[in-house]
Amino acid sequence: MTHHDRALVLFSGGQDSAACLAWALDRYAHVETVGFDYGQRHGVEMVQRTRVLDQVRSGFPAWAERLGADHRLDLTAFGTIGQTALTSERAFEMDARGLPNTFVPGRNLVFLTWAAALADRRGLGRLVGGMCETDFSGYPDCRRRTLDALQNALNLGMDRDFVIDTPLMHLTKAQTWALTYGLGGQALVDITLEDTHTCYAGERGDRHDWGYGCGVCPACDLRARGWREWEAAGRPALSP
Ligand code: ZN
Repeated sequence: MTHHDRALVLFSGGQDSAACLAWALDRYAHVETVGFDYGQRHGVEMVQRTRVLDQVRSGFPAWAERLGADHRLDLTAFGTIGQTALTSERAFEMDARGLPNTFVPGRNLVFLTWAAALADRRGLGRLVGGMCETDFSGYPDCRRRTLDALQNALNLGMDRDFVIDTPLMHLTKAQTWALTYGLGGQALVDITLEDTHTCYAGERGDRHDWGYGCGVCPACDLRARGWREWEAAGRPALSP
């Protein structure tokens, strides 16, 4: 097993990172996970991510053998700098750049840098993240161009050869459901529906056809639209 067969998944407990986790478990011999506590509303994500890991372990024995340690890193100090709708009670609005205030400046740069430091210590050669250019709000730190530059900076700065994998980069949200289905069938779709958390408002509340959430925030809206689009297409499976 080389270090490029050992991965660290940035795992928030959301739909996208759950798909990334399955993608990594399907592909690599050893997979660890990292979650960042940066003062998310209500801390729901941190609770749900443990549930998803437990469900994956019990539902997929072959993957359980590959799934290693889960790490939690405290980034609450960063959260106090990047106060936005995601971490406080402010309403959703757009700024002068045309970015929604759910954008936490530099968040993925910080997350990936911390993840790389952890991966260095753990002998993990791959960082896997759910960043996506296709379907979201145009967050500049989700673009592949940004991640290529960061990968280069991390490798120069740590004298490593990390690879940042972004399996969802060019997928729509409907295609992410299709990938989930292709990787783990209905069992993985069920875990995603029941236990992953995407809602910005931190609400579990009502069970919708697409899972739990407030149903009105941008993240719920995107998740719901992706689900309906996937269902309308006849629930296709996307091969990893
Ligand atoms: Zn919501």
